[in-house]
Amino acid sequence: APVVVAIDGPSGTGKSSTSKAVAAKLGLRYLDTGAQYRAITWWMLTHGVDVNDAAAVAEAAGRPAIVSTTDPAAPGITADGEDASGPIRTQEVTAAVSAVSAVPAVRSRITELQRSIAASAPEGMVVEGRDIGTTVLPNADLKIFLTASPEARAERRGGELKAKNGQADLAATQEALLKRDRADSSRAVSPLLKADDAVEVDTTELTLEQVIECVVTLIVE
Ligand code: C5P
Repeated sequence: APVVVAIDGPSGTGKSSTSKAVAAKLGLRYLDTGAQYRAITWWMLTHGVDVNDAAAVAEAAGRPAIVSTTDPAAPGITADGEDASGPIRTQEVTAAVSAVSAVPAVRSRITELQRSIAASAPEGMVVEGRDIGTTVLPNADLKIFLTASPEARAERRGGELKAKNGQADLAATQEALLKRDRADSSRAVSPLLKADDAVEVDTTELTLEQVIECVVTLIVE
């Protein structure tokens, strides 16, 4: 039977890097569910939807076609046929995504999409997000919950931004990251939460290679 792995946790814990590498190593597909919430947010921002108006967001939730590619070596995403892979990483999208993803109509639509994508992968899939183990795929074969200290998370995210832009304000990065996690953890519908049967891996003192190794071991055991 195909192996379905759910990897959840807050921002900056290494979810994406770990999930991609594990999927590539084991010949599984890979789904970045955060990218889907980011893509719908980007589409709304570029189509005049007020992302702070929950009713307007709910009304627009079904409009754009969101299509993800699930090759761990080349993950990509489009919104209404337009490549969203670059724009979904901008600060504008990052700042708006928690508000959009808290709207129930958005969650139910994207959750349904995630379940159909996971069901269409005969080789199995690593699905990465915030509510995969609790809500999207409660019957996943293995659930991992990645954590790390706020300092380690801000440092990693700051390092990524620095690599991209050549500079990063660590304090501001940490504040924005914690603000997003608070919003994601406190929303009414399927908040960021460790599933009861998830294995928690604290990555604070681990290198990326060690985290990958740990998850691979948990899967093949
Ligand atoms: O993982 P990433 O940082 O790209 O996720 C962006 C945002 O998408 C999160 O901050 C959260 O608001 C939302 N998200 C979610 N549920 C998921 C994955 C992401 O609400 N399963």
